[in-house]
Amino acid sequence: MDKITLQRIQKLHPSIRGEMTSIIKECGLALTGRAKIRVTQGLRSFKEQDELFAIGRTKTGKKVTNAKGGQSIHNYGLAVDICLIIDGKTASWDTAKDWDNDKVADWYECVRIFAKHGWDWGGNWKTFKDLPHFEKKSIKTKTSEIKTSWRNLIKLPKDKDGYVIF
Ligand SMILES: [Zn+2]
Repeated sequence: MDKITLQRIQKLHPSIRGEMTSIIKECGLALTGRAKIRVTQGLRSFKEQDELFAIGRTKTGKKVTNAKGGQSIHNYGLAVDICLIIDGKTASWDTAKDWDNDKVADWYECVRIFAKHGWDWGGNWKTFKDLPHFEKKSIKTKTSEIKTSWRNLIKLPKDKDGYVIF
């Protein structure tokens, strides 16, 4: 696993760091050719999210998100965006290419591994497909299991580092 990916995993919600390390390692074992997986984005602060939301609204540019601070699962460290790094240098978001010639597109090999661990792929969404995006479907609290929607997460208390407590 590359250093950048490792650093990004270390900022995810503490409860999923171990799980994400396993997922990335499994992807590393599954992809035996020119492509390696990299986490391009994990935790995003409320402030960073507000800055993205401003693009195409109060700032110039095309809209990049419909989520304000607190309305993205990234704001809770429970989502990652990925890309593939080809030959150790070029980023790729090609979801169809089979870089290791095993008859399954490398991107889908990763999708399957994430799914096995209970992660949703943004490529499965009906209205707005977000191909690089994966998020944890649900989290276990002491008493129940809750869907990891921002509406649920925003209500939870936070620890001293700003991570929600469940
Ligand atoms: Zn994302």
